[in-house]
Amino acid sequence: MSTAATSTLSDRLAEFQSAYDELKARGLKLDLTRGKPAADQLALSDAMLSLPGEGVFTDAAGTDLRNYGGPSGLPELRAIFSDALQVPVPQLLALGNSSLTLMHDVLTFAMLHGVPGSERPWGREETVSFLCPVPGYDRHFAITEALGVRMIPVPLNEDGPDIAAVKAAIAVDPTIKGIWCVPVYSNPTGDVYSPEVARELVSLDAADDFRIFWDNAYAVHHITDWRPEPIDILSLAAEAGHPDRVFVFGSTSKVTYAGSGVAFFGSSVENVQWFSRWAAFQSIGPDKLNQLRHVALLQSPEGVAAHMEKHRALIAPKFAAVQEVFGRRLSPFGVGSWTDPKGGYFVTLTVSPGVAKRAIALAAGAGIAITPAGSTHPYLDDPEDAVIRIAPTFPTIEDLNAGLEGFCTALLLAEAEKAAAA
Ligand code: PMP
Repeated sequence: MSTAATSTLSDRLAEFQSAYDELKARGLKLDLTRGKPAADQLALSDAMLSLPGEGVFTDAAGTDLRNYGGPSGLPELRAIFSDALQVPVPQLLALGNSSLTLMHDVLTFAMLHGVPGSERPWGREETVSFLCPVPGYDRHFAITEALGVRMIPVPLNEDGPDIAAVKAAIAVDPTIKGIWCVPVYSNPTGDVYSPEVARELVSLDAADDFRIFWDNAYAVHHITDWRPEPIDILSLAAEAGHPDRVFVFGSTSKVTYAGSGVAFFGSSVENVQWFSRWAAFQSIGPDKLNQLRHVALLQSPEGVAAHMEKHRALIAPKFAAVQEVFGRRLSPFGVGSWTDPKGGYFVTLTVSPGVAKRAIALAAGAGIAITPAGSTHPYLDDPEDAVIRIAPTFPTIEDLNAGLEGFCTALLLAEAEKAAAA
């Protein structure tokens, strides 16, 4: 921040304090914390509540889907998502209701049994470490922490993880077994990986059982006309001589119903066999009727794209509101910098070092809940205390605007306090 902006800020401390006091007196109760679809988005899939319909319970091959079996999931649904996830149908499994469950299970299987290429189960290594691009997704970090995997932050750039930092970490640390990646509209920055960075990741000189957890949660969640260049990560890995390096995850949680969608796992033939072997102890097959109603609703890749356009119409104005309010309220004071994502569910706001926690606490004091500072980093530790995740989709546009305005009032006060103390 420039000195001029700093002096303006500290000069305005009293003004910002009284604006904040007024805000507090309004007794708001607004929640901008989680990246959930709003009710009008969920309603886009309400045809599913009566699908597949009375008497409809077989797949294209005539299999009775009311019964056990079909551990790989419905081929028709896998075909619909094969292109979006860039995984050939035979290597793409359609499973339960949550991709996070799959990530948790895959890491658990790796800890208990090892993966193809492991010398021993990861859990028998003295230390297992994962690279965590930051800012990143708190639930990824929670899984790794819960399973005893050490986390090493690496910077996330606009085109993906900072490859120099990734290489430097791997060069000195043989305990590194994996990396979390959200390649499209990353949570929480909205950054999109470039094919070059993807190629670097699959080519890393890493452990034989190093795995990229490629969580393509937002592959089809566009809010502009721009489309990311598709990255066929499994083929890139094979070309680089590491065919088993990548686990692909995805789900329809933010396509249809969050919590009642379908999750996907894709990988090399050998990895899929490995996963299926261990998953077979856990389940006699997924909920194929839920998969069938998804096929009935979405029908084709084009059907998915058309459905996502309806989401876009509902949420693009909310993302635009974030840009408008931050630009109008913060830019005049040189406060903050923020991403302008072309899809996904989040915006990342970066404030002055040491200000994020204070701004969020002030917002909470005025009844506005913002995702806790630090949640974008391993161990909830943002060493700069500067990164704030904004989740604009869930509130109504009126509540969102009120929440953003109030949050800016809190942030300006926090920045002015810091400037005045300097
Ligand atoms: N991955 C990412 C990057 C996410 O942002 C989310 C939802 N917030 C999930 C996974 C959760 O997906 P699911 O509902 O399939 O468990």
